[in-house]
Amino acid sequence: MHFSALPALIMNRIPSQCAVCRSWPSAPVCQACMARFGQPARRCSTCALELPAEFPHTQCNRCQHTPFGLDACFAALPYAFPWSDLVSRYKFDSQTGWATFMASTLVGQPAVRDFLSQLTPDDWLLPLPLSTERLAWRGFNQAWELTRALQRQSGCRATADTSLLLRIRHTRPQSELKRSARLDNLKGAFAVEPLRAADLKSRRVVLVDDVMTSGASLLTAAGVLRQAGASHVSAVVLTRTAPT
Ligand SMILES: [Zn+2]
Ligand SMILES: [Zn+2]
Repeated sequence: MHFSALPALIMNRIPSQCAVCRSWPSAPVCQACMARFGQPARRCSTCALELPAEFPHTQCNRCQHTPFGLDACFAALPYAFPWSDLVSRYKFDSQTGWATFMASTLVGQPAVRDFLSQLTPDDWLLPLPLSTERLAWRGFNQAWELTRALQRQSGCRATADTSLLLRIRHTRPQSELKRSARLDNLKGAFAVEPLRAADLKSRRVVLVDDVMTSGASLLTAAGVLRQAGASHVSAVVLTRTAPT
């Protein structure tokens, strides 16, 4: 299983091949790979970290003692092999097949489906924004592709929007930084569109992203949204790192 054996360009022209084991016809990930790497796990209701099967609470120990900053958080897959490689690969490739796969994996989990189905048009579904520089470089925001696919597949009635929450400062990639420096790096990175702040008063917001590692980006964005008056801020992410 080598991802780099074929250039991405060639890989992407073979739409019917499993992105993990390359068996086909099965795109983008075959059933055997889903069964092996994509089994749903019990997760903390507020930070989405995986919980031991026998753990008696819905929240992890840390969230029980220190509020996490999100009212609810859902993740479908571990940010580990093979998902971490695939998320990185498709960050630069707006294949609708991948967005559909991400959304269907999330919507396939009853907790995510139930959560999305109770949202109303007054609630916001917001992709975690990229800075203008990064968006220009990549050409698209994978979180927005996921947001739109989630809406299509779940029938979720929340209003999806890309101009309410803004990324106003270009920051160093979080992956280059130590955990303690991640929150500092994001200070002032997000803002609510000043002309639309009233749109958030007493409203529920669901943030959408493909990867959640330390959670620093989501938590910083959640803080900005709450300051603007949002009553609840939750998150739906495709992948979440394992507990450390
Ligand atoms: Zn496979
Ligand atoms: Zn937790």
